[in-house]
Amino acid sequence: MLNNKKSPPNPKQSKILSPKNGLDNFRLGFGMTSKCTRIYIRTFGCQMNVRDSEFVSGLLIDNGFRLSGSIEEADVILFNSCSVRKHAEDRLFSNITYLKKLKKKRPGLIIGLMGCTAQAYKGEAITRSPVIDIVCGTGNEADLPRLIKYARRKKLRIIATDKVDAKRPELYPEYREHEFKALVSIGEGCDNFCSYCIVPYVRGRERSRDAKDIIREVKSLAGRGFKEITLLGQNVNSYKTGGDRDFIKLLGAVNKIDGIERIRFMTSHPKDAHTELFIAMRDLQKVCEHLHLPLQAGSDRILKLMNRKYTAKKYLKLVESYKKILPSGSITTDVIVGFPSETDSDFKRTCDIMKDIGFDSAYTFKYSLRLKTASSKLTDDVSAKTKAERLDIIMKIQRGISEGRNMKLVSKSVEALVEDVNKKDVTLMSGRTRTNKQVIFKGDKSLVGTLVDVEVQSVTPYSLKGRMV
Ligand code: SF4
Repeated sequence: MLNNKKSPPNPKQSKILSPKNGLDNFRLGFGMTSKCTRIYIRTFGCQMNVRDSEFVSGLLIDNGFRLSGSIEEADVILFNSCSVRKHAEDRLFSNITYLKKLKKKRPGLIIGLMGCTAQAYKGEAITRSPVIDIVCGTGNEADLPRLIKYARRKKLRIIATDKVDAKRPELYPEYREHEFKALVSIGEGCDNFCSYCIVPYVRGRERSRDAKDIIREVKSLAGRGFKEITLLGQNVNSYKTGGDRDFIKLLGAVNKIDGIERIRFMTSHPKDAHTELFIAMRDLQKVCEHLHLPLQAGSDRILKLMNRKYTAKKYLKLVESYKKILPSGSITTDVIVGFPSETDSDFKRTCDIMKDIGFDSAYTFKYSLRLKTASSKLTDDVSAKTKAERLDIIMKIQRGISEGRNMKLVSKSVEALVEDVNKKDVTLMSGRTRTNKQVIFKGDKSLVGTLVDVEVQSVTPYSLKGRMV
C-alpha cells in the first residue's frame, strides 16, 4: 500500500514530470493495485465535459478504482474544467484552492485537473493553485488511470498535456450517468476558430470518429436498454469520414438501430447546416425535431469580427427553411452580448433577429475575454455595466418569446420521455418532449424511462405543465 502519511508534494520540492522528461517511459508494474482508491469527479461546463467525465469514470472503474459520491472521503479529486468563460475558470480555481485545508488534513489526497482549463494552463495551473498534483490535458484523459497511480506511488506532480490533437483510443468503458439516455461523442476538436472561442486551442483540430465505432457504441447502448442518444460534436455538420453529407448518413445508420427511440444531436454550426439536414430530421422517425443553432449576434459587422462565416441574412434563410420543413420543430440558440466594439445598434440587431425568429429558448452570455483567442487582441471596450444591461434586456425578450412559444402548446398532446421525479414535489414527474421542452405532470416513479403522452394545461417560459392522457 502507498503511505498516505507522507507530506503532500510541495511544488518547490517535488519534481514535475511531463512527457518530455520521462513520463512516457513509465509503465505500471504488476502488483500496483488501486482497488481501494476512491475517486470523486466534479464536472464543469458543457455536455462534452459531462461525456468526458463519464469516459474517465468508466476507465477508472475498469482499472480497479471506485467512484465516491463524497469529496471528503475521496482519495483522488478530479476537476473536469471548462474554460469557455472567465467566470467559470475563476470559480474552478477558487474551488480547488478551497481544498487546501482538506489536503493538509489528508496528505495522501491527490487533486487533479483535467479538461479545457488543464489544457489551456498546462504547468501554470500548478503555479496558480499549488494544491494540484495532476494536470491532464484533453487528449491525455485515457491515460488518467496510469497517471493517478503514478502520482500516488511516486509522490510527484504530473503534467500531461501533449496529446491535444490525438484521436481518443476506441475504448468502451460502460459507465454512464443515466440509465436510459446517453451522450455519444462523434468527434473531437474544432477547426472553426471563432474569434472569441478557446475550444480549437484546448481541444485541438477536428477529428471525426469512424462511423463503425459510433454505431458499435450505440448498438451496445441499445442492448443495455438505452432509449435516447445524443450525438455530440463541436460542429456535428462538419462530421467527415471521407464522403459527402456524412453526418446525415450517420443519422440514418443510428436511426436503424433497434431499441433506440430518440436521437438528438448538437451542436450545429450555421455555416455548415443545410436543408438536407432538416429533411433528414423530418424523415428519420427517431431523430427529434429540435435544432440548436447558435446565432451569437445579429449584426453582420460583429459576426465578421467573431469569424462566424455567415451573415444575419443567411442565418434567417436557414431558419426559414427549417421552419418550412419542420413546422412543429423547436429551435434554440446561443447569443453573446458585449462583444468588443458592439454598439447599441449592433445590439439592437441581435434583439430584432431574436424577435423575428422566436427561438424556443436561448443561452445568453456576456462576452468574456479568453487568452490566446483572436478576439483577445481586440479592446474589450464594452463596459461591464453595459454588458449586464444588454444581458438583462435580451433575457427579458427571450422569456417573453419562450412563454409565447410554449403557450401555443396548451391543450395539445406531447410525447414525453419521463426522466425523473420532480425535485420540489415527489407526486410530480419531469420529462422531455421531442422538441426538448421540460414537461411536468402527475405520476409516479415507475414511469421513469418510459414514453408517455401528456396534455399541456399551462406553461411558464421554461416548462410545460399538464396531465397524462
Ligand atoms: S464552432 Fe466556434 S464556438 Fe463552436 S467550438 Fe468551434 S470555434 Fe468554438
